Amino acid sequence: MTRKNIQIAIDGPAASGKSTTAKMLAQKLDGLYVNTGEMYRTIAGEALRNNIDPDKEPQKLVKLLDNWTLEYKQLQEKQPLVLLFNGTPVDREYIRSEPVANIVSQTAQIPEVREWMLDKQRDCTKHPLIIMEGRDIGTVVLPNASHKFFITATPEERARRRFAQPGEIQPGTTLEQVAQQIAMRDHIDANRKVAPLKPADDAITIVTDGMTPEQVVDRIIAEINRPRPVEMQYRVPYADTDQMGVVYYANYFVLFERSRNELIRDLGATYKQLEDDGLMLPVIEAKATYHRPARYDDLITVTAQFAKFDGLRLTIKCKVLKDEVLLVEGHTTHVFIKAATGAPTRLQGPLRKLIEDNLIP
Ligand code: C5P
Repeated sequence: MTRKNIQIAIDGPAASGKSTTAKMLAQKLDGLYVNTGEMYRTIAGEALRNNIDPDKEPQKLVKLLDNWTLEYKQLQEKQPLVLLFNGTPVDREYIRSEPVANIVSQTAQIPEVREWMLDKQRDCTKHPLIIMEGRDIGTVVLPNASHKFFITATPEERARRRFAQPGEIQPGTTLEQVAQQIAMRDHIDANRKVAPLKPADDAITIVTDGMTPEQVVDRIIAEINRPRPVEMQYRVPYADTDQMGVVYYANYFVLFERSRNELIRDLGATYKQLEDDGLMLPVIEAKATYHRPARYDDLITVTAQFAKFDGLRLTIKCKVLKDEVLLVEGHTTHVFIKAATGAPTRLQGPLRKLIEDNLIP
């Protein structure tokens, strides 16, 4: 498996607490925080400055996009990313003001504006660990994000939170008015044609009513640390197929065996290190159930997880999928042996603990 950058997508409706959560998470995980709402707010703010009504004259705004640049940039090492509009840091007080908030959803529903944003947002993935919040991160911007969360709260709770927050509401605004503004934005965001607000199929939804931001962050970190299968992708080479272009049955066992190395690598060690310690982990049993064929040049995904371990024997469950369709499933069982004598031996020490901590029965 190639080690990927880590991307954490945090989506959810207005005032759901996702910014607080995402910022705290970035601090705790030493990652970089990207707030895509601020990117849309910046463009809404520019529409306002140019006296453009994004709802009635979207094309006027679209024409201006070519002259503008917008990027999240790390100006200094180890410092948070800064949002630059045409090279200058954006005025955060201005983009969070009520006049801007009132037209941001209208701005964000213009397809050309969303299209223009995409590569600017995806560009942030060049950093090794990013926490990106918005409405469509898990569904559209980073569909392959390693972790996806949908943070929400009841409308009443969200109105209360926004009402208690200084800055975005004008003095004299009532709680009911705040609730209405939020409901209006939710409605536009959830019903627009392009990239509407909704949880990704593989997102974990957290309803944050009654939870402190710390509790939400702890829940997210627990989810991130939960062991999960490793995934490898593999394009079937000619050499692995028979004359009909179908993958040899035996080749699946080769893939299964290779997943042992990938799982160990995923723990931060390598099979070579194991060998250097005088240990080997050969296969003593392999089984596979074959459902559908794969052919030459197909891109297949192999997932593997530690399923059983008693210190001596280790069972690894594997699946082979193509376009999310299951082709083959099975397992290999391995036994730790001392390379010098060939005798079975119980694994001890940190690697044993790491495997135990990463079991997914
Ligand atoms: O998150 P925040 O409330 O600052 O977002 C402001 C607005 O920007 C949202 O109401 C939504 O209309 C738009 N937005 C979006 N897609 C994103 C982030 C924000 O459409 N990924």
